[in-house]
Amino acid sequence: MKPVDILLSKVDFRCTKCGAKQGACNCWEKVTLKCPTCGKEKKTHRDKTDPPGTVLIRAQCPDCTGEIHPVEFFNAKGRRLLVSPQKTKP
Ligand SMILES: [Zn+2]
Ligand SMILES: [Zn+2]
Repeated sequence: MKPVDILLSKVDFRCTKCGAKQGACNCWEKVTLKCPTCGKEKKTHRDKTDPPGTVLIRAQCPDCTGEIHPVEFFNAKGRRLLVSPQKTKP
């Protein structure tokens, strides 16, 4: 290990969203937002309220009004994920 690597490894990078050590969480992974009404897709950062394993979120875009669709979450296998009730951390 080079001295510079040792120096860098000592720096405690933390996630600015959840406070976990860098790489220990997946807050910064991209998820796809897809509007069920117009089919528009958009890449966005994962939200901490998303169920674990979410890669696709079906949610209406701001341009689509009218019939309200519930927000649905899907994992990489295309399985629908259930949203667990929000846990509030102390
Ligand atoms: Zn995080
Ligand atoms: Zn739309």
